[in-house]
Amino acid sequence: GVAKHYPVKKGLLFARQVGAVRAVDGVSFALHRGETLALVGESGCGKSTTARLVMRLIEPSSGDVIFKGENVTNVGGAKLRALRRHLQIVFQDPYASLNPRLTVADAIAEPMTVHGIGDAASRRERVQELLRLTGLRPFHADRYPHEFSGGQRQRIGIARALAVEPEVVVCDEPVSALDVSIQAQVVNLLGDLQQRLGLSYLFIAHDLAVVKHVADRVAVMYLGRIVEVAAKHELFSNPRHPYTRALLAAIPRPDPSRRGSVTPLGGDLPSPLAVPPGCRFHTRCPVAQAKCKELDPPLREIAPGHTAACHFAEDLPRFNAEADGGVA
Ligand code: SF4
Ligand code: MG
Repeated sequence: GVAKHYPVKKGLLFARQVGAVRAVDGVSFALHRGETLALVGESGCGKSTTARLVMRLIEPSSGDVIFKGENVTNVGGAKLRALRRHLQIVFQDPYASLNPRLTVADAIAEPMTVHGIGDAASRRERVQELLRLTGLRPFHADRYPHEFSGGQRQRIGIARALAVEPEVVVCDEPVSALDVSIQAQVVNLLGDLQQRLGLSYLFIAHDLAVVKHVADRVAVMYLGRIVEVAAKHELFSNPRHPYTRALLAAIPRPDPSRRGSVTPLGGDLPSPLAVPPGCRFHTRCPVAQAKCKELDPPLREIAPGHTAACHFAEDLPRFNAEADGGVA
């Protein structure tokens, strides 16, 4: 039930609150040990804010964050620092996230220094181990980020995230800024590392194409809410929310002449400052009914392990994966 609302004020001297940006508007999900849960939605839907709430980088307006059975919503000080060690993040932009003045070795060692792990010699050794683990070379340690390609920089970002042996890694669109030819390499590396180190990933993406190769389960987000969650195969073959279907229909297909019956999404994402009443998707939903403008559909279980927030989830026609999308 986590929410993040930003108050909007009017007036300078006697500012009064006139509204709120509902960036994240009551989101619940679980990330299981060792799995990859993909969080997918258009830019501006609240995915990154959700990630930052999970990592306790920002404070929720309401709701709780539970880590291994412990409510960590209000922990601070040393406890928060200890928690942060278990939760690390790989950012979208490996160019912006690395300090250009630090050598690769220093960039990777920095989280260990921050968390007071080891001495200079043992950190140096650990850096070499992390370079090997992420497919970089020993001599890369003394170079600077600008000497590397985008893919290599993302490897450095991953090595840095892994330096403090986290249990959960939030991957915030880790391949969106990379060339398509490099994306698969980084995705494969993340998969290998997960296997070896038993990591749990919250993998954020703005479309379903990338997610197809990495996720165990997928949560689809729309305008601050999760609208559907299912195991990957189930979500791609039997999507039950019209928004998920539109996202699937938007995946480019090898043979564009085989057009399906689902219309790709038109219109813009409404502002989180003015969330539509009723079902928040009704302004763009091709199958909206009168009821949808008034009643907000809760996220409910429609089959074991499959939840959707649509009044008509069960009534939608069968999804034709071949014609309507979901085929890589
Ligand atoms: Fe569309 Fe109505 Fe379902 Fe919302 S509840 S997704 S508007 S059919
Ligand atoms: Mg983002």
